[in-house]
Amino acid sequence: MKAYPYWWDTVPSIWTGQSEPGLRPGAPYLEPIGHRRFDVIIVGAGYTGLSAARQLARSGASVAVLDRGQVGSGASSRNAGQVLTGLKLDVGTLVSTYGEARARELFEISREAIASLERVVADEPIRCEFERTGHLQAAAKPSHLVAFRKEQALLARVFSHQVSIVEARDQSAELGARGYHGLLVDEHSAAINPAKYVHGLAGAATRAGAAILEHTAVSRMTQTSNGWTVATARGDLEARDVLVATNGYTDEAAPALQRRLIPIGSYIICTAPLPDSFAAQLLPRRRMAFDSRHFLHYFRLTADSRLLFGGRAEFSGPTLESARRATNILQRAMLATFPDLASTPIEYAWSGHVAFTRDQMPHAGRLDDAFFAGGYCGHGIAMATYLGGLIARRIAGERFEHPLFDDHFPPIPLYHGRPWFLPLVGLYYRFRDWID
Ligand SMILES: Cc1cc2nc3c(=O)[nH]c(=O)nc-3n(C[C@H](O)[C@H](O)[C@H](O)COP(=O)(O)OP(=O)(O)OC[C@H]3O[C@@H](n4cnc5c(N)ncnc54)[C@H](O)[C@@H]3O)c2cc1C
Repeated sequence: MKAYPYWWDTVPSIWTGQSEPGLRPGAPYLEPIGHRRFDVIIVGAGYTGLSAARQLARSGASVAVLDRGQVGSGASSRNAGQVLTGLKLDVGTLVSTYGEARARELFEISREAIASLERVVADEPIRCEFERTGHLQAAAKPSHLVAFRKEQALLARVFSHQVSIVEARDQSAELGARGYHGLLVDEHSAAINPAKYVHGLAGAATRAGAAILEHTAVSRMTQTSNGWTVATARGDLEARDVLVATNGYTDEAAPALQRRLIPIGSYIICTAPLPDSFAAQLLPRRRMAFDSRHFLHYFRLTADSRLLFGGRAEFSGPTLESARRATNILQRAMLATFPDLASTPIEYAWSGHVAFTRDQMPHAGRLDDAFFAGGYCGHGIAMATYLGGLIARRIAGERFEHPLFDDHFPPIPLYHGRPWFLPLVGLYYRFRDWID
């Protein structure tokens, strides 16, 4: 079994150094540091940082994107590639928390985020298997199908967003799985190959003029009289502004953001390719799929018809031992859902960090004068692309309000970056799954 994301084997440049169009062949992103002062330094080469870099470089700013690893080595090449409508909070909770008008605005932002990703992919263009496959949510209990019907009505009434319900008896047209009691289907969601996308975005940012420096860890950012000094593994750099785009991988270099984002491990396994006829029985319309539990499982087919199956299997990690435990837990869950996969080998297993916020909403803005965007709570492919572009416009000097801009993002009480409370949260949600 390979202990790295399946997606990495679909992007030749990760292993061979073969470059994106517009980059120097042989060493795609290891730009030499020709000068040491930039208009903007961005820490983190995932969707947030690269989308911001593309936008800023297009507006004429000199931009450097620094990453301690490679392009996309955080969550942006490790995720499940499900580009979903909506936010982490379900629409009922959005309405009860924010009221109908604000909830409508927030939900619309999630749809606009997908549209903005689709535009970037088409304009560059980026070949990343983007396709509006739609998604399905599977009811883990009969009562959850009742909740889906209420959600369908609320989505239509408040959000003018149409979804359909599939009764359990008709489910096999959408899903060949055991243990579910009907489905909610949303045609607006999409599939993507996350690693191809993040590498395409890096190519786009570079073509626009941004420098990308891999293997350049930032250890400290200090404000000076004319901007910032950024201490890196390759020496100090200077900038007028900094953008912290480190999300679930935020470390001591950005202590203020670290106190506001909770990294939670998410784990994925991926089978060997399945014969097309077999794959067509599991997910006949190749939709993105997840279930209705708090401790949920998500799954999809890849372009070469592997089943990718993931979930928040562990709350203790990340260690080798917890990764092994998570792989076993996921394999058992996958076989309970798809028993016919019993003799199909698992070829890949990996994990990554999802960044949660206390209110389970994304945030962007300024903390101690450094710009930031993050906290996507597992819904970051489109939202990071969108908020990265938006915060870049603000850095470039545009003045505008946005519901997700928050310069007063409060720290989480009793939390300094080590999420000691996660095992307790895990127990709480297991209990909720049992009673809800
Ligand atoms: C297993 C998994 C499954 C997921 N599935 C989905 C999904 O299906 N759909 C969806 O919408 N979202 C999903 N997500 C979430 C999504 O991947 C993220 O929200 C998104 O990738 C965040 O992008 P980002 O650019 O903000 O952060 P990242 O891609 O995590 O990038 C942050 C970068 O910062 C760098 N960094 C951190 N500290 C420093 C430092 N001091 N110096 C230099 N560099 C530093 C890291 O190396 C990293 O590359 C999933 C996440 C995981 C982990």
